[in-house]
Amino acid sequence: MSECPKCHQTVDAQALECPYCRTALKAYGHPGMKLYRATGSEPLCLSCLYHADDTCNFPKRPDAMDCTLYRDRAQPLLPTAPSYTPGFQLKTWMSRNLVWFAVLGLILLSLLIVLVR
Ligand code: SF4
Ligand SMILES: [Zn+2]
Repeated sequence: MSECPKCHQTVDAQALECPYCRTALKAYGHPGMKLYRATGSEPLCLSCLYHADDTCNFPKRPDAMDCTLYRDRAQPLLPTAPSYTPGFQLKTWMSRNLVWFAVLGLILLSLLIVLVR
């Protein structure tokens, strides 16, 4: 679920338009193409990364109130790396080296058989 930027009602994330105020939520009628909208009177371009680095060549710039390519410059470009707990790292390391554990187990079993005889 997502929120309509105009009437702030909760709407289906795949909805093409808001069922309450009929504001278009997706561009070109395609559910996969998000349409970003300014929430106040300030154009989107003022907080857009592509306006800040001067790479946008959209004709709506710098007064776009809606845009499909908007990128909030306050958000990090790369998602933050997930924090791995030591237990998770050990488990991952053991699963990656499972073959060597099997080989070590066979060697120890062979030594045990030789020593018992
Ligand atoms: S991508 Fe859209 S919001 Fe960003 S600067 Fe260009 S027109 Fe403005
Ligand atoms: Zn709405």
